Amino acid sequence: MIPPWQRLLTRSITTPEQLGRHFGHDFSVLAPVIEQFPMRINPYYLGLIKAPGDPLWRQAVPDPRELDDRVCLVDPLDEENRSPVENLVHTYPDRALFLVTNQCAMYCRFCTRKRKVGTPRMLVNRGIMQEAFAYLRKNKQIRDVLVSGGDPLLLSDETLVWLLDNLRAIPSVQIIRIGSRVPCTLPMRVTTRLAAILKRYHPLYLNTHFNHPDEITPEAAKACARLAGAGIPLGNQTVLLRGVNDNAATITELMHRLLMIRVKPYYLFQGDMTRGANHFRTRVETGLEIMRTLIGHTSGLAVPTFAVDAPGGGGKIPLSPNYLTSLGKTVSLTNYLGAPCSYHNDLD
Ligand SMILES: *Cc1c(COP(=O)(O)O)cnc(C)c1O
Ligand code: SF4
Repeated sequence: MIPPWQRLLTRSITTPEQLGRHFGHDFSVLAPVIEQFPMRINPYYLGLIKAPGDPLWRQAVPDPRELDDRVCLVDPLDEENRSPVENLVHTYPDRALFLVTNQCAMYCRFCTRKRKVGTPRMLVNRGIMQEAFAYLRKNKQIRDVLVSGGDPLLLSDETLVWLLDNLRAIPSVQIIRIGSRVPCTLPMRVTTRLAAILKRYHPLYLNTHFNHPDEITPEAAKACARLAGAGIPLGNQTVLLRGVNDNAATITELMHRLLMIRVKPYYLFQGDMTRGANHFRTRVETGLEIMRTLIGHTSGLAVPTFAVDAPGGGGKIPLSPNYLTSLGKTVSLTNYLGAPCSYHNDLD
């Protein structure tokens, strides 16, 4: 029996012709783009697009500019060189990024791994995963494994159980983290059965990926309620994207609505320098200004960490507006309203 969410996926738009039939427009110009970077817009996400060019359209529908990019890097985070075994990126000492599938519920146009997601350029199978388990078993300093892809929740329940059993059998792995866009792009994948499965592997955290308030639907809320109900702490990583969410009002509303569905904003990312995604990038100043409108003006719960993942594999570097005027025996500060404040830094 094919689960309903898988049947829904088979009805995704993957060709310019299907896109043309749906929107009543000729999209043949997109054929070479899709050949290089696959398209998959499932019926659920397609239904959330209100009009061509809107913020959800821009995330899902290919753009000819993807092939014009002469600035950005194929592998911006140098992940391939940082993988001691295939599909396991080991950049930080105590944690590792484990890519467990090349499939996603939608192929986001801005994806950092667009060089390989949804293509034969990314190969995952149980044999390859077993090499990763062996590496994790040997490298006991890795206490946090971030399971990603692709989207791990596109694996079948059976494969997920096999994967999580194997990870939990490694005593040095304390924390399992799942990175999944499914609560946003295919929330019906979060079945009661899935929540019951994940619950067996605590401490398990899940970070999801919402970029726009229009993605917070009753279906997404239900998916997150199921996960939170299974005791899974939920976080969110948003990417700042030009024409999608690069203004304070949109980000503030998104953060508030995430909290309403029990998701804690974790990171707000500066767009990676990904080949084919240059047209989505914003200036760092934009993110800093957005952070200024959040900090102090709304609850700390709604404030993510703004970070840039340094090109070349330098890792995530937090960026904050500056509230520090001078540092010495007295620390001079500026508060969120711009008022000067001071703190006596001399302990004698
Ligand atoms: C993002 C990332 C992590 C996790 O980083 P946190 O700051 O702990 O969320 C781990 N490894 C790699 C390679 C990453 O890109
Ligand atoms: S769901 Fe994540 S991994 Fe998949 S295409 Fe979107 S950003 Fe990339």
